[in-house]
Amino acid sequence: MPQTKFIVITGGVLSGLGKGIASASIGKLLSSQYRVVPIKLDGYLNVDPGTMNPIEHGEVFVLDDGGEVDMDFGHYERFLGVTCKFEWNLTMGKVFDAIRQRERRGDYLGKTVQFIPHVVDHIKEHLLATARKEKADVMLVEVGGTVGDLESELYVEAVRQLKYAVGERNVFYVHLTYIPIPSGVNEQKSKPTQQSVALLRSRGIQPNLIIGRCKEMISPSVRRKIAMFCDVPEEAVVTGIDVDNVYKIPLHLAEQGVTEIIGKHFEIPLNPDIGAWEELLTAPAERTVHIAICGKYTKLGDSYASVIEALNHAGAHVRAKVKVHWIETTDIETGKKDADEVLKGIDGVIVPGGFGARGAEGKIAVIERCRTQGIPYLGICYGMQLAVIEYARHVKGLAGANSTEIDAQTPHPVIDLLPEQRGVTDKGATMRLGGHDVRIRKGTQAHGMFGDIARLRFRHRWEVDPGYVKRLEDETLVFSGTDGDGRIMQVLELKGHPFFMGTQAHPELTSRLEAPSPFFLGLMKAAVAREEK
Ligand code: GLN
Repeated sequence: MPQTKFIVITGGVLSGLGKGIASASIGKLLSSQYRVVPIKLDGYLNVDPGTMNPIEHGEVFVLDDGGEVDMDFGHYERFLGVTCKFEWNLTMGKVFDAIRQRERRGDYLGKTVQFIPHVVDHIKEHLLATARKEKADVMLVEVGGTVGDLESELYVEAVRQLKYAVGERNVFYVHLTYIPIPSGVNEQKSKPTQQSVALLRSRGIQPNLIIGRCKEMISPSVRRKIAMFCDVPEEAVVTGIDVDNVYKIPLHLAEQGVTEIIGKHFEIPLNPDIGAWEELLTAPAERTVHIAICGKYTKLGDSYASVIEALNHAGAHVRAKVKVHWIETTDIETGKKDADEVLKGIDGVIVPGGFGARGAEGKIAVIERCRTQGIPYLGICYGMQLAVIEYARHVKGLAGANSTEIDAQTPHPVIDLLPEQRGVTDKGATMRLGGHDVRIRKGTQAHGMFGDIARLRFRHRWEVDPGYVKRLEDETLVFSGTDGDGRIMQVLELKGHPFFMGTQAHPELTSRLEAPSPFFLGLMKAAVAREEK
């Protein structure tokens, strides 16, 4: 398309309404025909969320280029099938860094550098330049936060000005709001939406589409009211209905005519090809499998968002509904809970990525049960490292074996810092990050799953100490995947076990509904077999 079309998504009333999912769902309706590039504008001053606590901010998503971004990029990649780039995420941290550098360089010589025009222009230029560079047919621009937040005002102003840069017909504004049904009153209330749109309009943005998040379909009279007082046609007020599965949202939006509204506005033909997607979602589940996720950020499901997504992808392919059981491993190590007890009725176990000592011994106790009792196990990053420690201690007799992350004085540092990490003191973006090709050993289970090479994503500082590899490997434990040099152990498997694998990578990040991660699929198949026993 000669001119990129921009779809700008803002949110109102409250946060947590699922703006990322709404953006990704709209993008999904265009992505089978057009190159859709998603951009997220975040108001915070961190350069990226890499150093934020997942309990506060949710999972840190890692891109193939090594960028650390927030979980909305997970939705974009999963819905749109694109490989996103770090520069598609703008944060105020990045914006101010760039402005300060430009000021020092003399780009603004003679000028007083100001929020308007300089900061707003910088944001706008970033959008336009990225659209050009990526040859985007459609650019999705998600403005983080809610309209009225001080920290997103500059972004809101930039996206308002966008229509002057590219022409009004080439920008489509979507506003996501909330329609509450207060208990006692029991009717849908439109006032928060009216006020939120009034606020948006006071910033000079007239929405073309209003999505009202609601637990039921918005009634015709409430739709009429919103249309009348927000100055949009009635068909442009649609429901963002609560769903059991977020992948259904593109289908719901399409049913409500969103495709036609966007196609008409941009004057482009739109016939989304979402048949295969729909089929995966509508095939009835034949069984429920119980999967335990053992970690220390279990209080907020968002901390492990992609792990849950990957489980659901694999579940859809084996016709299983996945019931996740959260196991707080701190409780096991303090003796509050018993490892055997928490694993009762569990068909498969995941120890996901993690950091620091707290909860680690609890995880090791769970891993020992999985290994000795034939419970299907998938260890992700920290989960692989801890599986190595467990094996070293209990099978290889290396008493006190540990990771130097947990115990710097361990007599057997089977997990140690990557050599290139030794001098690193800065915490931001300094881990071994991003996509790497993993070399898979022939004749292993992993080879059956991936062939010679697997492209996986990483986020870690520690690794299996190469000096211990020979002592750890035997007729049971095999390191079946390494980096290109064969130095970093990246996949581990146990022979003779129904399914026991670990990977130093984060396979959950590259799993898709249409193409689940082989690790998760393997775990799920073994879990189904156990459930059927
Ligand atoms: N803490 C471990 C490391 O840095 C594991 C990291 C992770 O699980 N993402 O190597």
